[in-house]
Amino acid sequence: MKITAIECHVLVVPDLKENATSSSQDNLVVLVQTDDGITGVGETDTGPWLARAAIEAPGSHSMAMSLKDVYLGQDPFETTALWDRAYEATCMSGRSGPVLCAMGAIDMALWDIKGKAVGKPVYKLLGGAVQKAITPYASLQPEGTNVKTYTQTLVSWAKKAKKAGFRAGKMECTLSGPYRHQSLRGTDEQATEVVRAVREAVGKDFALMVDVQYLWRDARTCLRTVSQWSDLDIYFLETPLRVDNLEGYAQLAREAPMRIAAGEWLNSRHEFRQLLDVGRVDVAQPDVGRCGGFTESMRVCHMAEDRGRQIVPHCWKTGIGIAATAHLAFAIPHCPFIEYLPASLCDSALRRDLCNDGLTFKDGVLLPPTKPGLGIDLNMDALKKYRAKPMTI
Ligand SMILES: [Mg+2]
Repeated sequence: MKITAIECHVLVVPDLKENATSSSQDNLVVLVQTDDGITGVGETDTGPWLARAAIEAPGSHSMAMSLKDVYLGQDPFETTALWDRAYEATCMSGRSGPVLCAMGAIDMALWDIKGKAVGKPVYKLLGGAVQKAITPYASLQPEGTNVKTYTQTLVSWAKKAKKAGFRAGKMECTLSGPYRHQSLRGTDEQATEVVRAVREAVGKDFALMVDVQYLWRDARTCLRTVSQWSDLDIYFLETPLRVDNLEGYAQLAREAPMRIAAGEWLNSRHEFRQLLDVGRVDVAQPDVGRCGGFTESMRVCHMAEDRGRQIVPHCWKTGIGIAATAHLAFAIPHCPFIEYLPASLCDSALRRDLCNDGLTFKDGVLLPPTKPGLGIDLNMDALKKYRAKPMTI
């Protein structure tokens, strides 16, 4: 079998707000076609026009090649060999950023092709279901422009998630910092009150995670607040510091009363090795598309397992990435939760319409998918409907 074409689809919601904090407004979906008539689907979470350029823009020399030129004509079954070749052929332009993200979308699609070709779900090709069920956590979405409404909406989301059968949830708590919610301005003391209110609402029998989205500039300031959360039984604290402050992460891993999680923005095992060995985080959060696809995410998962750390993947795109995340999670033993927001609960029309994730959520857990490949149903009308206007640079 040979790869005959890579179609890139840049998608955006009609009411795109360039200054909004949610990346659920855009997407790069790739369709990889083969001479056998099988098409694989992949996506990645980054600036979609930049990632598309990594695939389609002409190459200029042997270390800055076009990804299209690397993959076209090749055997889609050779996922590791192709990944390594693409990494080397883009060493001067890539190694990270949009090029690596584009490689991730293509690699995801190649695994979809392999699964479809042999009639097996992707997790079986990754080694089989090490876990028989996966516990998803609900992403709790606050609203409002003041702390009171923000707290109330989080509390009501948490109750709704628990009622829907979720055993775990992750709450945003971003009253300040770069991901500050709308025009909110809140103090660290108020953040503690918000977390306490949600914990009280869900009771003890619920795994609660807190994502503060790069809120603090240094570990000492973070510790002043989160050291007061020890009685709130927080499963992990996500991205408390700026992503490159690895020494700060190491200090938090030593001194904070809960697990520290990070990695949603990282590309490739090389960045994760730094996060694990210098940053010492307890929980690594590869996003399958951003990290470099299944091929590279599995390498990251093995690295974390060797070091006794957990994996809780990041996933904030459509059913394509959600399905990919679930396949990865079934194939590894050290993934206690995955991020899971069912399409029906999404505020992004693009996410609601584009794709069915093919997963069954029952009694608080997800069961292994049975269809070949990723097992998703892509809505081709939505692919057309959300296509961004052609852009020239
Ligand atoms: Mg996050």
